[in-house]
Amino acid sequence: MNLDKLVRPNIGKLTPYSSARNEFTGSAAVFLDANENPFNEPYNRYPDPLQRAVKERLAAIKGVKPENIFLGVGSDEGIDLAYRIFCRPGVDNVVAIAPSYGMYEVCADINDIEYRKVSLDDNFEFDIDALLAATDENTKLIWICSPNNPTGNAYPLDIIKQVASRFNGIVMVDEAYIDFSDKGTMLAYLEEFPNVIVLQTFSKAWGRAGLRLGVAYASPEIIGYYNKVKYPYNVNAVTQEMAIKALDELDTVKQWVDELLESRTALADEFKSINCVKHIYPSDANFLLIKVDNPDELYTYLCENGIIVRNRNRVEKCAGCLRITIGTKEENAQLLNAIKDYDRK
Ligand SMILES: *Cc1c(COP(=O)(O)O)cnc(C)c1O
Repeated sequence: MNLDKLVRPNIGKLTPYSSARNEFTGSAAVFLDANENPFNEPYNRYPDPLQRAVKERLAAIKGVKPENIFLGVGSDEGIDLAYRIFCRPGVDNVVAIAPSYGMYEVCADINDIEYRKVSLDDNFEFDIDALLAATDENTKLIWICSPNNPTGNAYPLDIIKQVASRFNGIVMVDEAYIDFSDKGTMLAYLEEFPNVIVLQTFSKAWGRAGLRLGVAYASPEIIGYYNKVKYPYNVNAVTQEMAIKALDELDTVKQWVDELLESRTALADEFKSINCVKHIYPSDANFLLIKVDNPDELYTYLCENGIIVRNRNRVEKCAGCLRITIGTKEENAQLLNAIKDYDRK
């Protein structure tokens, strides 16, 4: 793979904006370089454009180098920038498994990039040959969400590695739900597969969707392009501060994940005895996809009882399905009671 040839020519040539905090890093007694207001410390100051303190801690936890990390405003930024770095509008295309996370296609549409879907089979698996057959010389990205949303299953690393070794472009591996899976992360293989970008997020296991902090892990060369294209101060000071705090609370995150995994198993077990639930798909994520008799009716019934789940009935391959996030034990009990009441009617 020749990275510089994969990148859009205008991005290859781009001279990025150089902010005050880029041109001078370090400490000083007097900062008069960024036209900031001298009052209202500390939020009068622009944040670190490269979020060095956050990356240092995150790198240590994840076993990568800070140069392997891009931080963005949610995974959304990591997704959108991949299009803007690699895909020429109106010319290039991307290939993705379907169904999968909706943002890949929305960002493709916004950037005027053709989005090619390869349908999963009834077990939500895909055929590597079929996926690669959908690519051509203008295919820049392949999207693999693992564990996949909304289907819940993760793909074995072996499959993802095969795609990465056979594809002459970038493989985007979205691991938003990786903490709930025992199938393993691609993070340890970034050097072996320099065409892989792994996306993770603070929004799910880390319990911080409100912060809007997403992570892309890749080779330093790819991260260099991300840094070139991103807004200079994309991750705000409060988010950086809270992220550092979060990274000091690993034990809490682990406890949350353990409880959610236990509840996932318990909830799946309970669903087995409910008549209107026809199938419970195996899950490697913090949600269960279930097939029910009358999805729209059950969805409405739950809404009327103050319980909101995601109706996936109109998503391809998911006819009849609701996607249910694992909540607290109390929330899960409320959900179960409501479905059992509905079942008796
Ligand atoms: C929830 C989710 C994300 C997280 O997006 P953020 O912008 O980081 O909140 C990313 N990918 C998938 C597949 C998701 O389901």
